[in-house]
Amino acid sequence: MKEWLKRRIKKAAENIESTITQLFLIFLLGGTAAIYTFAKNTFNIILKLINSPTPLWLSILLIILCVLYTRLRIRQHEKSHKSLNVQEELHEEFGVYWNNQYKLRCLRCKSPLKCASDNFGSQIFFCSDCDSKHTLRDKNGNYLTEAQAIKKLKKFQQGGKLDVR
Ligand SMILES: [Zn+2]
Repeated sequence: MKEWLKRRIKKAAENIESTITQLFLIFLLGGTAAIYTFAKNTFNIILKLINSPTPLWLSILLIILCVLYTRLRIRQHEKSHKSLNVQEELHEEFGVYWNNQYKLRCLRCKSPLKCASDNFGSQIFFCSDCDSKHTLRDKNGNYLTEAQAIKKLKKFQQGGKLDVR
C-alpha cells in the first residue's frame, strides 16, 4: 500500500514536471515567435519608409532644403549689404555723409539717417544702427534742414562754389 502510494506520487510529480516543461517550451516558442513578428513588422515599416515616397521623407527633405536655402539667402544678403556699403560713394558735408541720391548717411557707421520727430526739429537726424545724433550745419555753424542742405549740394555739384550762407 505504501509502495503503491509512493509510486503514484512519483508519477504525478513526473507528470507535473513534464507539463511544466511543455508549458515553458510553448511560452518560449511563443515569445520567440512574438519577437520575430515584432522584428518583422518593424523591418517592414522601415522598408516601407525607405521604399515609398511617403510625405514623411519628403517633408524631412524639404525642411533640410529650406534650412540650406535660408542660410544661403542670409549669407548672400549679408554679402550684398556689405558690398552696397562699400560701393556707395559717400562724401562728407554739413556734418553727415551724403550719397549720390542726396540721402543722408551716418558719419560713424554709414547707415541711413532718419529725420527726428517734430520734438527735435528737421535739422536733427538719428542713426538707429549706432544710436547717434547728427545735426546739419553749414560751415558757419548755422542749422540746415535737409532740403536746404540738398539745395546747397546741388548748387555745388553744378559747378558753383559751395555757398556758405
Ligand atoms: Zn550710425
